[in-house]
Amino acid sequence: MPKSIKCHICKRVIKDEPIKHSGKNYHEDCFNKWRQEVENRNSLYDYICQLYKLDIPTGMIRKQIKEFQDEYDYKLKGMELTLRYFHETLDNKPRPGDGIGIIPFIYEEAKNHYLKQQKILESIQNMKVEEVTVHIAPVKYKRKTKKIDITAI
Ligand SMILES: [Zn+2]
Repeated sequence: MPKSIKCHICKRVIKDEPIKHSGKNYHEDCFNKWRQEVENRNSLYDYICQLYKLDIPTGMIRKQIKEFQDEYDYKLKGMELTLRYFHETLDNKPRPGDGIGIIPFIYEEAKNHYLKQQKILESIQNMKVEEVTVHIAPVKYKRKTKKIDITAI
């Protein structure tokens, strides 16, 4: 019997076809989640570097990110959106040397802001559906007028 292949992330046996990456094996789900996490982390790092004019996030910032993940269960994407909310929506100017300590103070507020935006977006999408319905009516009306014109000739 062949030796069972274990996932490098969850350490459980892989029953389906493993994803191979850098000589290691992964479950497809585990690999995708891990890749998403890497993408989100890079995106958060990029934004922080852009804010504070850094080449790489400082050790203090990295430590803060880890603390927020462990203590508050914050998501990497959520932290980036919170910083964007604070600096772009609320228009607070980033000060060099600042950490990201503001995050726990406005995370919930930022979340509510994005949820509200999401609702607005949904209502706009619903409006578009209504527009389509409105659009159909004049077409019918036009046809009717055409018919009348034909009988008039
Ligand atoms: Zn796995």
